[in-house]
Amino acid sequence: MAIDVDMNVEEVHQCATESYSFSDDFWMAIFTHLDAASLCIISQTCYGLYLLAEDKLLWLNLLQRDRKKVIRVPKDTLMHPKDFYRRRKDFDSITDAIHSASPESRERIYVAPGTYKESLEITVPVDIIGEGPIGSVIIEGNTANTILSTATEGLVSNVCLRQTGHWFCVDVEKGSIHIEGCDITNSTLSAVKVGKDGSPVIANNKIHDTHEAGVAVFGGSGIIENNQFYKNRYGSIEIVYQTANPIIRNNLIRNNRGYGIHVHTLSRPIIQGNTIHDNESDGISCWGGADPYVTGNKIMRNRGDGIYIHEDGKGVFENNEIFNQKLDGIRTSKSCPSLLNNSIHNNDGDGVRIVINANPTVKGNKIYENNRVGVHVYRDGCGTCTENHIYGNKNAGMQVYGGGNTQVLRNRIQYNRCTGIYVSDRASVSLQQNEISYNGDCGVEIVSGAHVPSLEGNKIHHNKSAGMAVYSDTTTISAEVHNFFHSNGAEYYVPYNPDAMDTSGYDAIPACGASNNVLVREGKAMYPKIIKADGHHPEIVSFLAERAIHAKLCTFTFTREYYHAQYWYECRTCSSPRQILGRSEVSVCEQCAKACHVGHDLSPRKFGHFYCDCGQMTSTICKCTTPPTTS
Ligand SMILES: [Zn+2]
Ligand SMILES: [Zn+2]
Ligand SMILES: [Zn+2]
Repeated sequence: MAIDVDMNVEEVHQCATESYSFSDDFWMAIFTHLDAASLCIISQTCYGLYLLAEDKLLWLNLLQRDRKKVIRVPKDTLMHPKDFYRRRKDFDSITDAIHSASPESRERIYVAPGTYKESLEITVPVDIIGEGPIGSVIIEGNTANTILSTATEGLVSNVCLRQTGHWFCVDVEKGSIHIEGCDITNSTLSAVKVGKDGSPVIANNKIHDTHEAGVAVFGGSGIIENNQFYKNRYGSIEIVYQTANPIIRNNLIRNNRGYGIHVHTLSRPIIQGNTIHDNESDGISCWGGADPYVTGNKIMRNRGDGIYIHEDGKGVFENNEIFNQKLDGIRTSKSCPSLLNNSIHNNDGDGVRIVINANPTVKGNKIYENNRVGVHVYRDGCGTCTENHIYGNKNAGMQVYGGGNTQVLRNRIQYNRCTGIYVSDRASVSLQQNEISYNGDCGVEIVSGAHVPSLEGNKIHHNKSAGMAVYSDTTTISAEVHNFFHSNGAEYYVPYNPDAMDTSGYDAIPACGASNNVLVREGKAMYPKIIKADGHHPEIVSFLAERAIHAKLCTFTFTREYYHAQYWYECRTCSSPRQILGRSEVSVCEQCAKACHVGHDLSPRKFGHFYCDCGQMTSTICKCTTPPTTS
């Protein structure tokens, strides 16, 4: 029998007593309109209805309808929704729900969609869970940190955290709260701060558009993983102080307005498996005695260096892929990191740059197809380069000058567009057991004023101009033994072909041809080294640049594409459409400033290691590269 709208009371009553002839769906349709009390009464009429009234969905729906916006329930995932309904407590604010929570049992606070202008102080273990899709629940602090956590454990999940006063969004002062699946931004300070007693798990969040860092770890630890960081002003993550040793893994760190990751002041994080790209400064910046372990990261297209280690930075940087940076792949300055087994390629600057007393261990890396020098050492940079494969770089494989002092052992230096290793201006380089082959200029060039304490056991072959170029007037090589020169000269040279590159081991050396082993260039006896009282070496103009200026030629005529100490100018007229990082891309020598670029917008005169872009340019002809004809 079905209910008809025209039935009288008796007829309906009769229907009810014959209830078992109604379908379950019929009863459920009625039940969904009842309140909890009515449901309990009707469920007591008979066993069949009792069973139907236990339906989980029914009680979940009831819980949605009949509650305040914030409820607190026991943390028991197996509990029947009816018990949730009965045992829940209702609150007008999240703050109230936290304050009356039991410190012993970790209770769960559900927050209905809406905006909550509150600053939460989490002192006892609770789980705070936003309902609805992310974006539905917004918690916005203004007079204190949006969340201040000192609880030993707990969870904040699926909420948007905002801050409009001068506070953090999340401050983990101590304890191990989890912040998961949230959207966090802060228009005033950093989004998340981790104090020295904090060890949170920060996972699967979007942390973006903050005024300072995304996450600032001030001495704490914890795990930061699978988050997305973007458009943060100071960068994504900053790690500071000796006690800071968080694990930072598998995050996507992109398009930040500063660094990708900033590690400093004695901190010791593990940075693993992150993708760090298109940030406006360096991918990773490390300094101030920081000692991170950085491995398995992909670092690309950053506007600064891929990794910049400076001011007493330390650490092990291993198995990273570092490519397409606007500046260098890795730059080290006044620091002593270990750079091991990285793949460093196609960066706009150098592959690895070592300056200002930096003393890195550079071992087992592939350094290839960078736009400038493979390994570039100057301004008293040191370092040990062992077992690297340095190939296909657009300038030299290595250039060492300006007091550089480097050990070069068992490397393969091949197919670079210029010389394999170019050593000049007070540099000292030991070359042992390297294979130096197929470079587009010489294998090794040692310029007057440089020194090679040991040239031993190297295989130098198939280089285009010569195996080795030395200068007429100096004895620069102290010990020269067991080197193997052959088949150097243009007729044996084969240009770089990346597809045919054997990157696995040493190339089989084809049958020997007549060798163009040693080329002697005109040198100049060097003045004795001048050292000032502060231990600093003043640079003097390179004799090659001096010679060019004397002959009224562009210095490029003598220096070629190798960096030599001289005066230079940026030409803003010639490079205005192509400026990078506020600096002109075209720099010119003294002679070109007077001739080719006269009347142009030139910078003040500068001094440093340089080669002339005007002389190098093939698109516009430099007037000074050929001696002026006299009539
Ligand atoms: Zn020039
Ligand atoms: Zn110009
Ligand atoms: Zn010129």
